[in-house]
Amino acid sequence: MNDRMKEILARYRDRDLASKLVKEIHRLAKDLPKVRIMHVCGTHEWTITHWGIRWLLPENVDVRAGPGCPVCVTPSSDIDDAVKLSLEGVKVLTYGDMSRARGSRMLSLEDARALGGELEVVYSFRDAVNIARKNLGKEFVFLGAGFETTAPLTAYEVLKGLPDNLSIISSYRYVPPAVGLISQAPDMRIDAFINPGHASTISGMKAYKEFFEEHRKPMVFAGFEPIDVLLAIYLILKQIKSGSPRMENEYRRSVTWEGNTRAQMFLSKVFDLRDGYWRGVSVVPGGSMEVKERFKEADARLRYGLREPSGDDFPRRARCADVIKGKIDPPECPFYMKECTPATPIGPTMVGAEGTCRIWAQHRVTRSVRADG
Ligand code: SF4
Repeated sequence: MNDRMKEILARYRDRDLASKLVKEIHRLAKDLPKVRIMHVCGTHEWTITHWGIRWLLPENVDVRAGPGCPVCVTPSSDIDDAVKLSLEGVKVLTYGDMSRARGSRMLSLEDARALGGELEVVYSFRDAVNIARKNLGKEFVFLGAGFETTAPLTAYEVLKGLPDNLSIISSYRYVPPAVGLISQAPDMRIDAFINPGHASTISGMKAYKEFFEEHRKPMVFAGFEPIDVLLAIYLILKQIKSGSPRMENEYRRSVTWEGNTRAQMFLSKVFDLRDGYWRGVSVVPGGSMEVKERFKEADARLRYGLREPSGDDFPRRARCADVIKGKIDPPECPFYMKECTPATPIGPTMVGAEGTCRIWAQHRVTRSVRADG
């Protein structure tokens, strides 16, 4: 770690500053009704859980984890299709977490491999391209899951040209419309958002403008150190208290209004934003990145005649959908840390490194924070 990094970490993990912010948060929250804040990023959930931030907040400030885990929101039909292709002898290439998530028939790609299917775990789409190039006599499919943070690298490789034997099941999802959808969901009753630092570094704050203007709920773009998150909560409460909601940038060291325009250019050349299914949530208008017609030979949906993504398909009595939507905490699921653990995951939120159940389980959190569930 270089000196600059050490200096940043010391500043953003400063105990005295954290104590002062917690005091300010309590002062601001004193006369407020219940405030529900949602973040949409698994890394924020990790920071909040790891540093015990939820337990430092006033009772009326409720920070919920939304659908910020790519593995969790990947439609079960995409996993089913990848499993089917794998069992038919097409080699599926995907990330480690994705290979363990189960589809509607409760089969994961790892299960398929145990049944004789073809699977190889990769660390990047570049790895997938290299593997396909070295094995031109074989068909490969890349199951691509992630948000606007990971999709640009896939787009870049598509623009450079893929080998003929490689195509993509695009499960990439675009975050801003999901925030817009949650803003207006009456059953979720979210008052404000901590917007994702990584994804917003790519999309820029401007991508959220239309959703902010429609619902006028405070949005603070935040980084991933404990001071970042406390500051975001403090800024949200200040906005609520003053009655002047706005889009505010706490994470200036990474997020800008315009975002990463080069990455946006790669995305817009290769993917169309379409209405797309987010597992556990619903169809999100404009929330799915599908390969453009122009690159149809790279689109596994066309090459293999796959279905449109759909389906929640969680095990009976499992509360994965409610966890993904932030309606409950993991301990409210009857399987949490019983049948469902990081070693024996039942649902996707216990599989993905950014899944709320997995993060809570790894930190051995066994009780819900919220009094009202
Ligand atoms: S504990 Fe397992 S089954 Fe329950 S919500 Fe979490 S991932 Fe789903």
